[in-house]
Amino acid sequence: MIKVLFLVLIVSVNLLFTTGAAAFPNESSGNDQSVCFFSVLMCLYDQQSQGEIEQQSTAEQYIDSVLDQVNSTELEIWINNLSSFHTRHTKSDHIESVAYWLKNELQSVCNGKTYFHNFTQIDQGTKYNLRNIICDRHHGSAGPGNEPYILISAHYDSRMQDINKTNARAPGADDNASGVAAVLELARILSKLNLENDIQFVLFSGEEQGQWGSKAYVEYLQANNTKLDLVINLDMIGYPALGLDNVSIEYDQGNKFTTNDIHSKKVGEFIKQTALEYVNLNATMDPFGRTDLIPFEATGNIVIGLHDGGSKLNPNYHNTSDTPDTLNMGYLTSVTKLVLAVILNIDRQNQ
Ligand SMILES: [Zn+2]
Repeated sequence: MIKVLFLVLIVSVNLLFTTGAAAFPNESSGNDQSVCFFSVLMCLYDQQSQGEIEQQSTAEQYIDSVLDQVNSTELEIWINNLSSFHTRHTKSDHIESVAYWLKNELQSVCNGKTYFHNFTQIDQGTKYNLRNIICDRHHGSAGPGNEPYILISAHYDSRMQDINKTNARAPGADDNASGVAAVLELARILSKLNLENDIQFVLFSGEEQGQWGSKAYVEYLQANNTKLDLVINLDMIGYPALGLDNVSIEYDQGNKFTTNDIHSKKVGEFIKQTALEYVNLNATMDPFGRTDLIPFEATGNIVIGLHDGGSKLNPNYHNTSDTPDTLNMGYLTSVTKLVLAVILNIDRQNQ
């Protein structure tokens, strides 16, 4: 049967950067010509040539074979291990050992440079030395080139309802061992492939305190003049609060910039279509909440998030009962596959 719906991603990178120019449209600068532009368009075709159909079905078979590599046992082991730390509260005595453990895990699966991004945060007169964990997976060996640069992130800290209970038990299985496990699994699979895009896998600290880790990281990227084309954040993707067949796509509506909204929406619509085609998930498009997308959006980036709806509907949210046995590993596996399918389809259009 001829496939009537064919997705076309148009990824274009305008390289007319000038020194000190904003990476993305900046409303205050009025410098809209010197931007890195990324857009995903959905096109409808009634007919395709036989050659195009064959090419497409080969590509889909390849993508399906990569999706089959997502290992729900690996995901579950990571979630069990992360949840077995007494707490991952950012101010707790445990956060340093969590960071080192996670860096080892990321290093063991990610075929790229793995390192800490260290930052300090002063809160109520106390200084905290904290660590984001990064793995770079560049298309070339020399570092980021002119390829689309995609950041995939999740926060690894956890909390109880009372955020001042620094050393109380907070397993944080859904929030957000689920997102961390998915990032590790994506790094394991994607870093073995020969991709056209540059991808950075990032695990943030301090999200629950008010996006400390992502704010510090955004400042670091700006200081290094690093331009991102897309940020995909995974925060709570293991408890199917909206039902086993449903996932929420968190996209950008307004917030600090309005110029990036249209691109976020188009990426969201593309993910929604990919969810139906590859993993049989119905996606709803929702505004994003208090997540690590905020600092990225606030610097003009194109951002998108995936969420299970649990911040409103999971009774275990920010509680000692947010344990691995309450998650659905099949669901988490599907959402992980969805992110993988999105990355591979973007990559395919960029070849
Ligand atoms: Zn969270």
